[in-house]
Amino acid sequence: MSRGTATIKQLTACQLGAVPAGGLPQVGEARAKLLGKLGIGTLFDILYYLPRRYEDRRINQSGELKPGENATVCGIITRTETTATRRGLSVVRAEIRTGGGPLTALWFNQPFLMRSLRRGLPVTVTGRIDGGLFGNEITVADYEIGNPEDTVHVGRIVPFYGATEDLSQRTLRRLMYKLVKQYSCWTKDLLPAQVAVELHLPPLAESLRQVHFPSNFEALAKARERLAFEELFLFALGLGKIQDTIQHRGVGRRPKSALAETFVRGLPFPLTPAQQRVLGEIRGDLAAPRRMYRLLQGDVGCGKTVVALYALLYAVAAGYQGALMAPTEVLAEQHYLGLKGPAERLGVQAAALTGGDSKRHREETLEALRNGQIDIVVGTHALLDEGVVFDNLGLIVIDEQHRFGVRQRDILQSKAPQADVLVMTATPIPRSLTLTLYGDLDLSVIDQLPPGRQGVKTYFLPDREKQRAYRFLRQELDAGRQAYVVCPLIEESEKLEVEAAANRASELQEEFPEYNVGLLHGRLKMEEKARVMEEFRAGDINILVATTVIEVGVDVANASLMIVEGVERFGLSQLHQLRGRVGRGKDAGYCILIGNPQTDEARDRVKTLVKHQDGFQVAERDLAIRGPGELMGVRQHGLSDFRVVDIFKDASLMETSRSYAARYLGHVNDTIMQEIGFRFPSLIYGFKF
Ligand code: ADP
Ligand code: MG
Repeated sequence: MSRGTATIKQLTACQLGAVPAGGLPQVGEARAKLLGKLGIGTLFDILYYLPRRYEDRRINQSGELKPGENATVCGIITRTETTATRRGLSVVRAEIRTGGGPLTALWFNQPFLMRSLRRGLPVTVTGRIDGGLFGNEITVADYEIGNPEDTVHVGRIVPFYGATEDLSQRTLRRLMYKLVKQYSCWTKDLLPAQVAVELHLPPLAESLRQVHFPSNFEALAKARERLAFEELFLFALGLGKIQDTIQHRGVGRRPKSALAETFVRGLPFPLTPAQQRVLGEIRGDLAAPRRMYRLLQGDVGCGKTVVALYALLYAVAAGYQGALMAPTEVLAEQHYLGLKGPAERLGVQAAALTGGDSKRHREETLEALRNGQIDIVVGTHALLDEGVVFDNLGLIVIDEQHRFGVRQRDILQSKAPQADVLVMTATPIPRSLTLTLYGDLDLSVIDQLPPGRQGVKTYFLPDREKQRAYRFLRQELDAGRQAYVVCPLIEESEKLEVEAAANRASELQEEFPEYNVGLLHGRLKMEEKARVMEEFRAGDINILVATTVIEVGVDVANASLMIVEGVERFGLSQLHQLRGRVGRGKDAGYCILIGNPQTDEARDRVKTLVKHQDGFQVAERDLAIRGPGELMGVRQHGLSDFRVVDIFKDASLMETSRSYAARYLGHVNDTIMQEIGFRFPSLIYGFKF
């Protein structure tokens, strides 16, 4: 495949990830948009967008066709005609001269095919064979005209990709064929040669070609193994490096006062045993002379925030600064509001830093951070900006880590290479997977909700019965409670999404003139968002119409009802997060999902939510619906960044990769480190080596 002329570029995954798909001549802007919907944005994404399954459509060589079985056959078209079935369906029939004799190919209800199925053309057809009155017939499932050596959709082991309505399987497959052929040789193989030799693993470029368009099943298996091994190897090196750093680069933090304990005593509720246990684990880490890198996992509403605040105050009591980073401005603002009161009472200086701050305010905050006047800063990834310099940062807490983008990960760490790190996530990871995903990393789990929670009762209504939901809304409002109305997610365009939400808000205001309807979306300025949330918290807004900006973290106890419209547009874990916004106080929460789910998968998602309240069960179910074999499932879920590895099936490969990684840990250079950071952002987030 090498051009032979100019030397071909050799790019690492990290570098491939910097080549936008839209910039490739084979793709172009319009296609790039469609690819974007599949999560493909770069050349790396393209090459690692692996088929979900394959179909063996290799040409039947024996010449023997068995009625009732599927087969793929090639030949020359000798005659075509259109007829009609008794039920009025049109049938295109083509006589094909094949090596094994004549065969009649049938296409149902596609009369337009008569134009392309010309006599004398070579064609390859795949489908089910039937013994007809005048010899064998084949009901065509797929076909391709042209030299059988060059076919993409038939006549080979054919890959099936995750496609969308706008980008059909065939279009996508042909595109992938071109792209893989052209660019697989651009990849730089980073697997140590010795390892490849010992494990008989084929080179990277070859593996990529084989995994997309395999020449046979043995080659496919080997190629997959090669790619999975590489992924696991890099992952294991990453885990190893983290362990290494934890062991060798830390500070024991000894509190000089009981700030953190005082804070806990001042809370209006006692901590749950699970929270207490986790506080103990964190305290142990902070006090130990090794670096903390702890993942805190717990379902929505279990009370992770107080744990974070405790840890931050503990760091402050030991003489350090703390930083709390949240993925959205709304959430950062809310954390800040929750922290401000207690901080003032305890004589701790807290500040917020987000992208929406005025210039002067920002300058002041930055200065105060630099000279150590601010003890705790809460912010969005504005905290990562170059201008943000700490005096003595000791603890970084990252909330809802799965929500963060890819690129900014290790910047915060470079501001304090010895800082302890606490990463919080509401994504429930089935226990069976934690070891696979996080190795020996320290994991804390809050596995119980505060007492008295009645959970969220979830219902489904088809669109046409929508009014029932709004009658219920009125009841709740009349009883003095508040509600969220979440508008359909429109991935294609934030602008449309915002417009739709705004329209919905004015409709509802008309329908509920005696109540106040507020509107919250991603395009509002920071101050406006803050104001809307403030009014909602204060009860001045009764109905909050929102886009998914309220997905994470938002905490208003009096809100008892959430109505989600266009439910089919949301993912399962997203919906679970969303409904976690209600039922947070003493009263039961209600979530009404409205929509018209068309696919089995969408219906299954809805059923799962109606049936299960517990995030762990939802997660297990999510994996089951998508099938453990569907790698994308796990990734989209935010559970891991693996693109090739199937965390269920590749367990033994994982063992091997660990032992190899241990051997190579001492040889990890900057390129490899960069690669690990690029490929496993949620593992390495907030970690710099
Ligand atoms: P999440 O884990 O989803 O971030 P939060 O930290 O926002 O959850 O907590 C959800 C709500 O539960 C908050 O209103 C919080 O004040 C409250 N809460 C936290 N811990 C307890 C507890 N031990 N008892 C009662 N309420 C609690
Ligand atoms: Mg939270």
